[in-house]
Amino acid sequence: MGLIKIQDLHYKYNNSEEWVLNGIDLDIKDGEFLVIVGHNGSGKSTLAKMLNGLLVPNKGIVNVNGDKTSDRDKIWDIRQQVGMVFQNPDNQLVANIVEEDVAFGPENLGLEPSQIRERVDESLKAVAMEEFKRYAPHNLSGGQKQRVAIAGVLAMQPKCLVLDEPTAMLDPVGRQSVMDAIQKLNKGLGITVVHITHFMTEAIQADRIIVMEEGRIVLEGTPQEIFSQVDRIKEYHLDVPQVTELAFKLHQQGLNIRPDIFDIDRLV
Ligand code: ADP
Repeated sequence: MGLIKIQDLHYKYNNSEEWVLNGIDLDIKDGEFLVIVGHNGSGKSTLAKMLNGLLVPNKGIVNVNGDKTSDRDKIWDIRQQVGMVFQNPDNQLVANIVEEDVAFGPENLGLEPSQIRERVDESLKAVAMEEFKRYAPHNLSGGQKQRVAIAGVLAMQPKCLVLDEPTAMLDPVGRQSVMDAIQKLNKGLGITVVHITHFMTEAIQADRIIVMEEGRIVLEGTPQEIFSQVDRIKEYHLDVPQVTELAFKLHQQGLNIRPDIFDIDRLV
């Protein structure tokens, strides 16, 4: 079933001549793990901000669970259903104590204290941060901070999480911990995930990848479908996962590789 439906989406920033999004059609299914890749300036962040109405189309439609983002009466409902996580966790944490930070959203919803506590505990547990609830965010690592930021969004009980390069500022350990948390939310709790990344090792964990270039979707498919097109991936200035590149080269050299060698799940 479609959770977010985008039709003929066009967008340009106020003082810009060019369309930054130039005719996007995309259906995001309920429970899907969608990854968006594309080189800098291709329009990924702008598209992310369209998904919860932070930006609204100049032309075309973004529909979230039946409501148009251009319908301003629906905007708070839409923002609750589609939560956003950005690159820098320091910009997203507002309180001095982890649990207070996660409580911020539910408090603004006017929930009872017992419900707030329940949501805080569940959200921190979902990102494996329950032990840190009384910590000050500045004493946490980058990956831990980012997981608290994710918990803050989860406490609003969204259907969909949109993550705009959430691992870009993290070390490999932090990156892995955030990816583990995101996977768990998607596969365990059924939350729809839209994940923007430069890391192709993250992209291969998706159900579906879209590649953006100059405000358009230029490639779309499963990780296998995308990464088996090594030449096209390079054309769009993206890295090919090392392991895929190796398999591809061996295959080109005529090495007798089993057909399932391109089954990426088996390679990583
Ligand atoms: P990506 O996330 O793929 O790097 P962005 O969506 O951030 O791409 O940017 C797409 C284009 O829109 C770029 O040319 C960028 O310079 C421009 N852009 C982004 N934000 C703004 C803004 N606030 N005002 C004007 N132009 C912007």
